[in-house]
Amino acid sequence: MTARLPKLVAFDLDYTLWDLWIDTHVTGPFHRNKNTANEVLDKYNEPIKFYKDVPQILNRLRGTQGQVKVAACSRTDAPRLARQALGLLLVPPETKDGELRPAIDFFDHLEIYPGSKLTHFRKIHEATGIPYSEMLFFDDETRNREVEALGVTFRLVRRGVNDSEFEKGLEAWRKKQLDHQ
Ligand SMILES: [Mg+2]
Repeated sequence: MTARLPKLVAFDLDYTLWDLWIDTHVTGPFHRNKNTANEVLDKYNEPIKFYKDVPQILNRLRGTQGQVKVAACSRTDAPRLARQALGLLLVPPETKDGELRPAIDFFDHLEIYPGSKLTHFRKIHEATGIPYSEMLFFDDETRNREVEALGVTFRLVRRGVNDSEFEKGLEAWRKKQLDHQ
């Protein structure tokens, strides 16, 4: 990763990092089968897991040693369940001798509550001082594109984040930097 990166990368949760609505499709409390990687089960053993490429993307961002902060921005009606899932989901390591780590450890900021995502990003900006122009956001819903009004780069993902979408998001963010020079 030699090209410049945004100072903050934010992800929506439902249909961006995992394939369900946490407030509708699953029921708490959640649990995990021993140390199974990337799988949490709901009350009825319905699985919750990140899309395939998400663990490596999280590992990659963590590998920047804090150069890139990571945020989750969700407007779910079940914030407690969302946090519980992030606390239980184990992210597999990049190398065989690495350790499984709870997904929540990969996030510097969690903004999880209903309402306009403008609020979510204003709060992150207030907490970190990071300019909106240094933020890249992945989300599956067009209505959340409204954060572009703040200066955040928005990348719409239709079937969750994957490596290719992640790269496209980075490209879009870099292009915007050049356009504003
Ligand atoms: Mg979503």
